[in-house]
Amino acid sequence: MMDKQQKILIIYSGGTIGMTESSPGGPLVPFDFFNIVDHLPELKRFDLKIDIAPFQNPIDSSDVDPLVWKKIAELIIEHYDDYHGFVLLHGTDTMAYTASALSFMLRGIQKPVILTGAQLPIGKIRTDGKENLITAIEIAAAQENNAPVVREVAVCFGAHLYRGNRVSKVSAEGFEAFKSPNYYSLADIGLHIHFKNQLLLRPTQPFTPHLEMSDNVGLIKIFPGISQKVFQSFVNGGPWDGLIIETYGSGNIPQKKWMQEELQKLIDQGTLIVNVSQCTQGHIDQHLYHNAQALEKMGVIGGKDMTTEAAITKLMLVLSQNQSMEDRKKNMSICMAGEFSQE
Ligand code: ASP
Repeated sequence: MMDKQQKILIIYSGGTIGMTESSPGGPLVPFDFFNIVDHLPELKRFDLKIDIAPFQNPIDSSDVDPLVWKKIAELIIEHYDDYHGFVLLHGTDTMAYTASALSFMLRGIQKPVILTGAQLPIGKIRTDGKENLITAIEIAAAQENNAPVVREVAVCFGAHLYRGNRVSKVSAEGFEAFKSPNYYSLADIGLHIHFKNQLLLRPTQPFTPHLEMSDNVGLIKIFPGISQKVFQSFVNGGPWDGLIIETYGSGNIPQKKWMQEELQKLIDQGTLIVNVSQCTQGHIDQHLYHNAQALEKMGVIGGKDMTTEAAITKLMLVLSQNQSMEDRKKNMSICMAGEFSQE
C-alpha cells in the first residue's frame, strides 16, 4: 500500500543538468546527484517524498542505446507501485529518442514519466535546469480525482510539456530546446501549469511493458545527388530487418530506376521499410505524387506524421518480436502511444 504522501522517484541518467563548475569559471564536472538538495534547496519545500536513483556512472546522452533504455524502464517497472510519478533527468541530445523508446516500451503506463534536462548545468547561475526540474516534479505529482493527471511518457522543457514520442530537439542553445511539430503541447507552463486534459493520453490497453529492441535497423536520408554507389553499399551492408527512409516532403524519392530496384531488393530480403518525411511538419502521403507511388506499390509503410525518433524506436521494438512480416507491418501501422495523428 502506498503512503498518503505523494512519492516521486527522480532517476538521473546523466547530461548537463547534473553538472557544476569544478571551480568558479572552471570546467564542468558531474556532481554527486545524491546531494542534489545542496544545489537545489527548493526541493525541500515540496510537500512530497522525493527519492533519487542516480546512475552509478552518469552518461552523456550521446552514449544512450537500447540497453540504457532497458535499464531505465526496468527501474520504473521495479518501483512502479511505490511511486506516484517518475522524473527522468537526461541529456538533451538524445532525449527525444529516449522519450520515444520509453513510450513504446512502457505502453499503457498509467503513471507519469516526465523527462527533463537542461541546456545550462544546475551549478551555473543562469541555469534552466532548476526550473525544468521543479516543474517536472510538479507535473509528475499532479493528481486529479486521486489519479495522475499525466499517464504517459512526456518531455517537460522550458515553457511546455510535450508528448515524448512527438518531440525533436531543435536547438543546441536555446532554453526552448524541443518542439512537437505535429501535436499540441500537453501543458503550457507559465504562472500556472495549464494541462490540456483533452489532449492527454488515456491508455485503454493494460500496462504491458516490452523491453527488447532490435538493433538490426538502418536509417537513410535521401538527398539530391545521392549516388547509386553509396546507396548500394548501404543496401548491401544488410540484410536489415528494418529501414527508415527519410524522404522529401510528403514522402517522395527520385524517380531513379536503380533506387527503386535497390529498395525492392531489400523488401525481397525481408526488410520492413518505413517512409518518414525530412520536413518537421506534415505527414506522409504515398498517393499524392507519382514519385511516392512506387514506394506504396512496393509495400513501404508510410510513417504518417511520426518523427524520425519515434519511427526508428518503434521499428526497433516491433522488430524485436518474432512475428510475421504481415504482423510487423500491422504493428507499425497502429498507433501504440499517441505517436501519430489519426486521420
Ligand atoms: N551532451 C549532453 C547530453 O545530451 C547535452 C545535454 O545534457 O543537454 O548528455
